[in-house]
Amino acid sequence: MFDWIAFDADDTLWKNEEEYLHGRQVFLQILADYNINQDALERVDEFEVENIQYYGYGVMSFALSMIELAIELTGERIHPGDIRKLLNLAKAMLTAEVEMFDGVRQLLEEISKKYPLMLITKGDLFHQQRKLEESGLVGFFQAVEVVSDKTPEVYREILERHKIDPQRFIMVGNSLRSDVIPVLKLGAWAIYLSDHLTWSHEDDPLAEISQDRYREVKEISQVLNAVEALEN
Ligand SMILES: [Mg+2]
Repeated sequence: MFDWIAFDADDTLWKNEEEYLHGRQVFLQILADYNINQDALERVDEFEVENIQYYGYGVMSFALSMIELAIELTGERIHPGDIRKLLNLAKAMLTAEVEMFDGVRQLLEEISKKYPLMLITKGDLFHQQRKLEESGLVGFFQAVEVVSDKTPEVYREILERHKIDPQRFIMVGNSLRSDVIPVLKLGAWAIYLSDHLTWSHEDDPLAEISQDRYREVKEISQVLNAVEALEN
């Protein structure tokens, strides 16, 4: 039934959101000396969402959003030394070791014998390429697409370019907003990883979409069983 299986990368194959949670903690520590109300500092998420239209997704956008919020909340009094700390935080995030979820390599070994695999990931191009390279997983994928956003139009373009019938395509990922909803809108299939940590911005309600072609599993090691169940 399926001709291709596609995987998301961040928080699907390897951990990612944990880095951002840690980054937000470091941001709070750096700004702790400026007497700023805690709730205001938590607005870094809001700034990041607002900035997606300018910078897209990823660490660079997060870094610029932290700096922008720090300038605003300190009334332009943020010390250059503290801006340097924020930049160092971003560099640490960009070079952090890639930590894969348990069972990823085994799953890809098994599933790649049965289907061609595609990786579809969004974020900073350079960072995504580095993580994929470092993961040692690149050989499992027949196609890699690093995109700036995951809209139905972006998926449609990818499927057309690879001459894939949406009804024979399944996307696996941790984000309802990015990996499930846009794919279902095209008439393709999706498997959602419900227990993987996900940025709140990526949680969209499924309510108004037909869920016939949607399955939910807790973690990545259960994906092959879910695909086989759909085939039967
Ligand atoms: Mg993801």
